[in-house]
Amino acid sequence: MTEMYTERVELVEVSPRDGLQNEPDNLSTASKLELINRAIEAGARRIEVTSFVNPRAVPQMADAEAVCAGLPRRRDVTFIGLVMNRRGAERAIATGRIDQLGAVSVSTDRFAMANQGQTSDGSVKAAREIIALAKAAGLSGQATIAASFGCPFDGEVPEARIVAMAAELAAAGATEIGLADTIGVANPRHVARLVTMVRETIAPLPVRVHFHNTRGTGLANVWAALGAGATIIDASIGGIGGCPFAPGAAGNVATEDVVYMLERAGIATGVDLDALISVNHWLGQVMKKDLPAMVGKAGGFPLPRVNTVEEEIA
Ligand code: ZN
Repeated sequence: MTEMYTERVELVEVSPRDGLQNEPDNLSTASKLELINRAIEAGARRIEVTSFVNPRAVPQMADAEAVCAGLPRRRDVTFIGLVMNRRGAERAIATGRIDQLGAVSVSTDRFAMANQGQTSDGSVKAAREIIALAKAAGLSGQATIAASFGCPFDGEVPEARIVAMAAELAAAGATEIGLADTIGVANPRHVARLVTMVRETIAPLPVRVHFHNTRGTGLANVWAALGAGATIIDASIGGIGGCPFAPGAAGNVATEDVVYMLERAGIATGVDLDALISVNHWLGQVMKKDLPAMVGKAGGFPLPRVNTVEEEIA
């Protein structure tokens, strides 16, 4: 397999939505907005800010409209609202502050039923409708295929199924296709193979990847995805979030860990690592806990300046 690392990747900051959605203690709307503003300060230019879903199902996102009303007016930042159906799309569009709708299709019937009360095909149909609504409203629409690398109910998911879904969503006008390892079971070889297949199917549309570090393979999967030609990565400051099917598990790949790895490897992300680490520390205080991100604890490298022993004892 030929490796094709780009010089530059695009990061999508998903902490305000995927990160916080899986945290038991909800953040106030004001704190969510501060997180979004701090992420922008650090360099984030595409942010999944909330989801427009039934507040009874996801109480953490019940303030979607209030979050949108408080978003900064920035032409250089793309704000994404995640939606599952027409109702959600209409709510997101009505805010007037969302730039892009994110639709989610699920790879298997059982997971699609559990997550959003529809079949896998039904979730593709819903995504097509969402993309059409986005375009009609002058927004863009993208789609993510949940459980691309494994399903909590059915186990292994046939790659042909993911490729067929990606082709259908691309034909519906999605601006990119995201492959999500929703439950954190992907391995780098699987990632390289599936990203390659999907990239070749939807070209010239880009492939985005979304990994959860549930079993510690998150960063390895990011690297494998880039080598296979993915150019957009979802990540969450602090690595916050969790996995609804693995209690106690770590969340999304941490933005600061991804930025550290890529910038050290000579791949530009547009995000400032030191600023991200500051956001991590602030967020840890707000959430009153230690966040999973490793670089948030250790700091970057090279170190800013280490005092010599002479100076220390002087
Ligand atoms: Zn996720």
